Amino acid sequence: MSLTYIVIAEARSGKLRQVTLEALHAAKIAKNDADRLVAVFPGHQITSLAEELAQYGVESVHVLDHPSLENYNPDTYFPAIAELIDGIRPDAVFLGHTGIGRDLAPMLAAHLNAGQISDVTAIEKSGANVLFTRSLYAGKALEQKRFVQGPSIVTVRPNNVPPAEKTGSLAPIVPVSYSPPAALRSIVKDVVRKASGKVDLTEAKIIVAGGRGVKSAEGFKPLEQLAEALNAAIGASRGACDAGYCDYSMQIGQTGKVVTPEIYIACGISGAIQHLAGMSQSRIIIAINKDPEAPIFQVADYGIVGDLFDVVPLLTEEFKVT
Ligand code: FAD
Repeated sequence: MSLTYIVIAEARSGKLRQVTLEALHAAKIAKNDADRLVAVFPGHQITSLAEELAQYGVESVHVLDHPSLENYNPDTYFPAIAELIDGIRPDAVFLGHTGIGRDLAPMLAAHLNAGQISDVTAIEKSGANVLFTRSLYAGKALEQKRFVQGPSIVTVRPNNVPPAEKTGSLAPIVPVSYSPPAALRSIVKDVVRKASGKVDLTEAKIIVAGGRGVKSAEGFKPLEQLAEALNAAIGASRGACDAGYCDYSMQIGQTGKVVTPEIYIACGISGAIQHLAGMSQSRIIIAINKDPEAPIFQVADYGIVGDLFDVVPLLTEEFKVT
């Protein structure tokens, strides 16, 4: 019996989000050859992005294009997607573990009476089973889960599963009409993004993060210059946020964002367990700290004992494209 898999696509700042391609790849690993894989893309004026998504090996891209879907609002997104997938009757729905994915997934799980596995970092087939890996206890342990019966909902943590690749074929775009509920409980009037560098923190390949050791908002300047040279995003510890050196949108850790970049450069961060919870899965960790006993060095692949205000400008000089 063939099953139907759905991937819910997301766009941000006029671009298809990388995590959508990662969720797509995860669904491809989970499904069998005979199973269907379709994409559902809510948004507004997203035709060209839907055409881009259609190149990544889906059977079709169902586009919910409506002004009320321009910005995420559960009052419009959920009924739009629920109505559409009621017609498709999926056996599995994959989303990115983003703000939108985390909000939508449990609503869809309740609607479909489905089980949910969240924040998946790896996926593998073991015989007839599909095993989903996720981290526990602030990254101290990993667990593997599987569904015993469907339907199932999966959210995929950004930057962990490789993205799907273009297949050379173009799937059909299926426009789906949608009318928002007459009486909305809330309306999104505007979205103002807080800047954390030019690169999105949760999807960044390289992150330069500052802690209380940067000593002031001004102290982030050398880190910004290094981030510019590396095309990196800027993050921070809660210590730096609490001290008012930067915005809380930059906070990484247990109560901040969870990131898994290729390279994480921690500058003046002690390495408290709550900070490690948000970054210890990074592929390569580089720590700059003037205290050789700082706990961050226990998780670092490379450590530089020194004053960040001496070390960071030297690194920038080294990496700057002249
Ligand atoms: P500090 O611990 O003060 O460390 C500063 C470091 O900078 C020191 O190691 C020092 O040697 C070094 N340094 C100073 N000057 C220099 C210099 N010139 N050059 C190089 N190094 C220098 N924290 C988070 O980060 N994220 C969270 O999500 C989070 N959630 C929390 C949730 C709870 C419930 C609690 C209780 C705490 C949480 N915390 C979180 C706070 C956490 O416990 C730490 O207090 C915080 O991470 C410390 O930030 P820090 O490393 O920047 O500061």
